[in-house]
This record gives sequence, C-alpha cells and structure tokens, in this order.
Amino acid sequence: MTASHDVPFRLVIHGGAGAIKQSRLSAEREAAYRQVLTQSLSAGYDVLKIGGSCIDAVTAAIVVMEDSPLFNAGKGSVFSREGQNELEASIMEGSTRLAGAVAGVTTVRNPIRAAHAVMTKSTHTMLIGPGAEIFAAEQGLEIVDPEYFHTSYRWEQLQKALAKKQVLRDHDIDSNRPFTNNDKKHGTVGAVALDRHGNLAAGTSTGGLTNKRRGRVGDSSIIGAGTYADNRSVAVSATGTGEMFIRTAAAYQTAAQIMLLQKPIHEAADTTLKEISSIGGDGGLIVLNVKGDYAMRFNTSGMYQGTIGHNGIAWTGIFHDESEI
Ligand code: ASP
Repeated sequence: MTASHDVPFRLVIHGGAGAIKQSRLSAEREAAYRQVLTQSLSAGYDVLKIGGSCIDAVTAAIVVMEDSPLFNAGKGSVFSREGQNELEASIMEGSTRLAGAVAGVTTVRNPIRAAHAVMTKSTHTMLIGPGAEIFAAEQGLEIVDPEYFHTSYRWEQLQKALAKKQVLRDHDIDSNRPFTNNDKKHGTVGAVALDRHGNLAAGTSTGGLTNKRRGRVGDSSIIGAGTYADNRSVAVSATGTGEMFIRTAAAYQTAAQIMLLQKPIHEAADTTLKEISSIGGDGGLIVLNVKGDYAMRFNTSGMYQGTIGHNGIAWTGIFHDESEI
C-alpha cells in the first residue's frame, strides 16, 4: 500500500463526557488533562505522519490515555460494586469492517491492545473475562496484577457511591460539589483516525461505571454502540451513559444516517444524541469521514477532546464555547 501525501490525515480523540464545569475545574487539573490529551494526539500523529495505519494511530493514542491515571480506562479505571476493576475496549477498521473487542478483563494493562489482537489474531470479534485474558497473554500482551488498577481516589469514589447507593458515570461523580485540586475527574477514552491511505478506524476503552454490578458491560466494547468505522460513512467513538448508547446503537446509527441519508456529520451526531437524551441518557460522540471532516459533539457540560491534522497543530478542548465546530 502506498501512502499519498495529498490525502489529509487526521486524528480526533475524547477522554469522556460528563458534568465537567469550568468554574469547578482548577487550572492545575485542567492543564494536566490537556497535557495528556496532547501526548495522546502526538502519539497518534507520529504514526499517521509516516504513513502508518489508522488502526495503529488509534491504538497508540488510546494507550497513552489508558496509561494515565487521569482517565477512566486502563490505569485509572473505576471500581465495580465488588471492588474490582473490570475493563473493556473495542476497535474497528473502516476498510474491511473487521473489529475486535474485550470486556470484563481485570489483568490486561492495555485493553485496546487486546481488542486489536482479537481483531487481527483471532477469528472472533469479542472475547470476555478469563478467556480474553488468556488470549491476551498468549499474544504476548502485558498482563498485570489486578492491584495495578487500584488507585486510592477511585476506591474513595466507590465508597461514596456505595454509601449513596448510586451507580455513577465517572465525570458525574461529585458533580454536586465544587471540584478541588484533589478531585480526580476521569473518563472513558476514544479515538478516530483517517490515515494517508484514506482509511478510517475507531477505538474506545473504559473502566465503565463506579459501583456497577459485576459483569456489567457498557457500550465501549460493543461494536455499533460505542465504536464503529466504515470507510463509506464515518468512524465513531462514543462516551456517555452506556446503557442508552447500546439501546440506540449510537455509533452505528450515526454512521447509518450519514451513509443512507447523506446527513452532514454534525447533524447526524446531534440527532443520535437527541435520541439518547429522549430515553434519559447523555454523553458525546467523535466522528470523522474519509475527507477529514470531523465533529466532536456532546450534550453534557463538558467533554475532554482533541484533534490533530497533517499540519501537526494539536488542539484540545473541554467545554462547549471552545469547541472548534
Ligand atoms: N460509556 C461508558 C460506559 O457506560 C461510560 C463513559 O463513557 O463514561 O461504560
């Protein structure tokens, strides 16, 4: 495959959506988030710049956020009711519509790599629990003690959620009181990329919801709900109230509106979010097409987000008024 230098490449990422208010976010914490978002963008950019694949760019961008304790994915994953970290991730390639996903994993350091391995090294699309972990180990992926995912602030969040009998999406935790420097706001992470070969990919990774039931699976590992990619339409990664994103086939319905109804990408994303809102959910979507047009839409007060194109200028955002679009 030859890379065309005329094809504009692009990467768009998110770090979760929720009740993120500027007035409640300290300058220090905001800077920390923007720094990891920028690192994630540059990891993906480095792949795309040299003609690497969109799948590799999505993986590289997500690994940076999984390795940061700031986001609810990988290292910073939230706790289930039983005090475990059950992680999930998915990835999809738009040229072949091949996809891979894992859910309920407790020992895989980078679930997005495991999803990628399921896509490329197995005949399956989704593996869960111990089976996914055995497969990841067989593929030479890094396996960690479940303790690796234990962070004290996440543990405290679980204790609060247990006391209030609430199942909480990450960014909404503690949203009823001011954020402080000690607050750790985190979120599901995702990326969509267009490479120099004109191909699209999407990926999403999460620790799910604080105080979720054991075995609960969200939208992030469900192809068509949290992740979707098709070169004929768009690549999509979602964040939000997972149950509603599953029930609306959120990522697929966004792509379908674009492919079948030729809707502009922003409009398609907004229509999907409206549908989600009509059944009591909220969140955000990042969307990218083969021309390099993209949208970062959310119906919450904030969404950690960023983008970079072939000019190499990284942009990060959190709130509505600073959105590029
Ligand atoms: N969608 C994720 C889930 O339901 C949560 C999030 O995006 O914050 O697991």
